[in-house]
Amino acid sequence: MMEALAKLSYLLAAVLFIYGLKRLSSPATARSGNWVASLGMAVAIIATLVFYTQVHWSYILIGAIIGSVVGALLARLVKMTAMPEMVALLNGFGGGASALVASAEFVKYLNAGGAIPLNFGVAIMLSVVVGSLTFSGSLVAFGKLRELITGRAVTYPLQKTLNALILLATLALVVWLVAEPANPVPFGVLAGLALILGVLVVIPIGGADMPVVISLLNSYSGIAAALTGFVINNEGLIISGALVGASGLILTNIMCKAMNRSLANVLFSAFGSEVQQIGPAGAAGDKAVRSLTHEDAATMMAYARQVVFAPGYGLAVAQAQHEVRELADMLQARGVTVKYAIHPVAGRMPGHMNVLLAEADVPYDQLYDMDQINPEFERTDVSVIIGANDVVNPAARTDTTSPLYGMPILDVDKSHHTIVLKRSMRPGFAGVENELFYNENNSMLFGDARDSFKKLIEEVKQLG
Ligand code: NAP
Repeated sequence: MMEALAKLSYLLAAVLFIYGLKRLSSPATARSGNWVASLGMAVAIIATLVFYTQVHWSYILIGAIIGSVVGALLARLVKMTAMPEMVALLNGFGGGASALVASAEFVKYLNAGGAIPLNFGVAIMLSVVVGSLTFSGSLVAFGKLRELITGRAVTYPLQKTLNALILLATLALVVWLVAEPANPVPFGVLAGLALILGVLVVIPIGGADMPVVISLLNSYSGIAAALTGFVINNEGLIISGALVGASGLILTNIMCKAMNRSLANVLFSAFGSEVQQIGPAGAAGDKAVRSLTHEDAATMMAYARQVVFAPGYGLAVAQAQHEVRELADMLQARGVTVKYAIHPVAGRMPGHMNVLLAEADVPYDQLYDMDQINPEFERTDVSVIIGANDVVNPAARTDTTSPLYGMPILDVDKSHHTIVLKRSMRPGFAGVENELFYNENNSMLFGDARDSFKKLIEEVKQLG
């Protein structure tokens, strides 16, 4: 009876997880999706405490209080732009916890003197490997994003060969320990090798690619949890781990596609080891850009029928989201249709633009995904590019030599006019020149995006 109730609770938790994940797919329902999934986790935890817990409640209570206080404080204090760092830490702790639980089971089997059944042996060894690798790799990713260590890709001769050898040694130890489990020293070596591997595979990846790596490590932390679920025979952990593993992989894939890079290229190409200055030779040399005044820009927008804002990383740097919203409201009050064009990898983390704009309470129905907004540009009077660069670079469509070639972009250049807000002619993340800036129908509005928007707001006010 108890067993059946426990399994029913896990089933309920799984349904809540999946429904919560479904709701996370749209900004309008994401908040409630988070609550639903959290409720699922609460059901799973309570079921485990009631039906399976063998240790004294006080231990669990103390752990839960410490963990909740630290977690709540971190979540409150962390800046939106530092979210990938926080996720990196959480992944790391998740992986570390899985490795510790699997190790504890290993010790328990050894102390009982009995042999470890084959299926448990496999699950224990793999859980230790994936969990330890996730732990150390996530800490390195955190260190890179926090700039505690260099964000540059760290490379050295024979790096890939060394990593491959350590991986082979790790796999060989797994096979040996599954066959001959009663060997605590090699077990320790296995965990140590996995920890080293986590560090070595993440250091050659540049800081700017870290969000993709973190998404992949997130998936690994789920896989480690699912494996631990097999170790301790817990369906709740298997299901939740598998869901995290699968969703992390899907997100990794979406990010790679939107950046027009393969996962292998992100992991092994040491992108960011040197400052890239690629682009059509002499593209900037002989061409002139035109810049316009805030007054002219405000007039163009105020008398337009449709204005599309295309935000990028510079919006996050300038923290101009509230001013953008204010100007949009003023334009709408004048009868201008305002839309926001959201590129999937604009900014430096998944959903970066959605999060920023949500902070300024921009209505969700004004946010348009790339596929929805691209057909609209031809009938858009003014597209305002706010600190975006790579995601609006037409070279992605036309220049086969560009590293951006093939990346889907926002077709802002098809609008009647474009206005680019940025501080200089410096390239964006990919280090590539942007032909858009030299187009006949483009004007640059140089300066910090927030300052520019403040001035634009004043100018539109003057227009009455
Ligand atoms: P971007 O290409 O990096 O360009 C950002 C632009 O913002 C820069 O050209 C910069 O020019 C400008 N800027 C910076 N601070 C500013 C300020 N205070 N005011 C106004 N402008 C400012 O950004 P993006 O177009 O958003 O493209 C994102 C890039 O990051 C893509 O290449 C993508 O593949 C990559 N990436 C994204 C993710 C993700 O998950 N979203 C993850 C990893 C990598 P100035 O310096 O001249 O001002």
